[in-house]
Amino acid sequence: MGWYERIVGRAVRLIFCGVRGSTPAPGAEFLRYGGHTSCVAVSKAGEAPCLILDGGTGLRRVSPWCGDEPFRGTVLLSHLHWDHTHGLPFFDAGVRPGHRVTLLLPAPDGEPMEILGRGLSPPHFPIGPEDLGEGWTFGRLAEGFHEIEGFRVLVREIPHKGGQTFGFRVEHDGSSFAYLSDHAPLLLGPGAHGEGKLHEAALELAHGVDVLVHDAQYLGREFPEVAFLGHASVEYACSLAEAAAVRSLVLFHHAPSRTDEEITAMVDALAPSTFDICAAEEGMVIEL
Ligand SMILES: [Zn+2]
Ligand SMILES: [Zn+2]
Repeated sequence: MGWYERIVGRAVRLIFCGVRGSTPAPGAEFLRYGGHTSCVAVSKAGEAPCLILDGGTGLRRVSPWCGDEPFRGTVLLSHLHWDHTHGLPFFDAGVRPGHRVTLLLPAPDGEPMEILGRGLSPPHFPIGPEDLGEGWTFGRLAEGFHEIEGFRVLVREIPHKGGQTFGFRVEHDGSSFAYLSDHAPLLLGPGAHGEGKLHEAALELAHGVDVLVHDAQYLGREFPEVAFLGHASVEYACSLAEAAAVRSLVLFHHAPSRTDEEITAMVDALAPSTFDICAAEEGMVIEL
């Protein structure tokens, strides 16, 4: 039994529907951790999900959690890369009669619907944002504190590569988690250990949370060759978790080539810490 299965019955439920980074990873070597790209559904105790972080291909796995009901809630996109948006046209619960989907995205230099449509419209894909469903609306996400679907959400910009990228801190009824799926702290400097700077935005998002979900696409030893890809190392995720005094760390956004065996070995090799740690698995549920 993983530590996360012992945290039961509190205010917030996190459902990991896609945990892979960059591009889907189907195949026999990826069955345990899963191949769908980034998507985490959030619900309050005993309710269907009403908040979704990112619309990667894992978004398809949210629909069963809605039962036969339509999704009524908000989708927050951390940024617009393919691995965070390609599930949007395949969200069954998001088109059932009675659906309401408020999609909020970073759009610093234009209209949100138009910016999303640059990558989601012909000839790239047969349908555009306006075809997703009549109950869909599109809005600009900005830094700061927001009340979204009854959650208190802090949005902060974090360094990544190729477009404005946000990290989130979500709080409800005494529970809290942070989500930094794509994070390149080296862009702000090497930090004390050469892993990247423990910068103010990351520390504010993660400070004291029950669960920190963090980019762990690469191992420290794979740098500096992979630095240009705009991600963090597992070691940085651990340093941030310690500095921010989090209760637990979930390693997320696994490299598409990282096999089940390799991810398990990666976690087993980590030194004992002041916080619990695991690698995100598709289908994993944490109640906090
Ligand atoms: Zn990504
Ligand atoms: Zn990205």
